Amino acid sequence: MVNYKDLGLVNTREMFAKAINGGYAIPAFNFNNMEQLQAIIKASAETKSPVILQVSSGARKYANQTLLRYMAQGAVEYAKELGWEHPQIALHLDHGNTFELCKSCVDFGFSSVMIDGSALPYEENIALTKQVVEYAHQFDVTVEAELGVLAGVEDDVVAEESHYTKPEEVIDFSTRSGCDSLAISIGTSHGAYKFTPEQCTVDPATGRLVPPPLAFDVLDAVMDKLPGFPIVLHGSSSVPQEYVDIINKYGGKMPNAVGIPEDQLRKAAKSAVCKINIDSDSRLAFTAAVRQVLAEKPGEFDPRKYCGPARDEMVKLYTHKIIEVLGSDGKAL
Ligand SMILES: [Zn+2]
Repeated sequence: MVNYKDLGLVNTREMFAKAINGGYAIPAFNFNNMEQLQAIIKASAETKSPVILQVSSGARKYANQTLLRYMAQGAVEYAKELGWEHPQIALHLDHGNTFELCKSCVDFGFSSVMIDGSALPYEENIALTKQVVEYAHQFDVTVEAELGVLAGVEDDVVAEESHYTKPEEVIDFSTRSGCDSLAISIGTSHGAYKFTPEQCTVDPATGRLVPPPLAFDVLDAVMDKLPGFPIVLHGSSSVPQEYVDIINKYGGKMPNAVGIPEDQLRKAAKSAVCKINIDSDSRLAFTAAVRQVLAEKPGEFDPRKYCGPARDEMVKLYTHKIIEVLGSDGKAL
């Protein structure tokens, strides 16, 4: 049993309260490897932004949960080395699907867990979330729950169709489950193909797909029912077209990849949405940089020569998100 506090990590309670009051959102970035983690910490330390490091079940399989946790512990020390005196870093389980998995993360030093019972019938979702909350709160670990279903593909989470969160359920759900934050479905979606071309319109000037707007009426109704309660958005990558273009230019094939426009996320960040999950954009930045280096220098075989530029590109991406989209810079001095 390791408590996250001994690792220098923090839970999400205080960061969310400040974010709601301050009208900004905390970035939740997924990581699977060293370069991603270095980039996240560098961008967060340089901008003094609180940050949530997310580990998905796919990341646990890819990189090993033990290794990822030690990496997060190392990240706190790395942040201090970069001159961030009081780093505010949470280590969060993304899309936990069983009590046992959440418990093992709590026992292992995570400061926050998500229990995703959104695919279950309503009462079962409450019961499972409550079970995780009762365990996690003994150790001051915060719990994110989900109500409503997001479409898209994220590691092991696959849903064909989305169902918006029903605002009339959120008071009952949050009260009875005891969750600390709630992921809701308002039209965001997992992955790099968030909408089919049929769901989009076409910008006549650029020929690019324009996705349908988020359901801010649903968000407003949720906030109306739960004033000041922390709301989470999953699937909130913007799928920057410059990365898609580089990938396609250098041998990739990602037709019609489309994400959530940043102006929509900026608007959400000013509301009770206090955690915005971004994963795909980092994958795109990484892949674009690697493809470009390997295409331009076909003789290159030192992974540092393409993972290095990929890391630099991710630092740029994370810094942009923190300052230009979420507004969380300077909030963890
Ligand atoms: Zn998610």
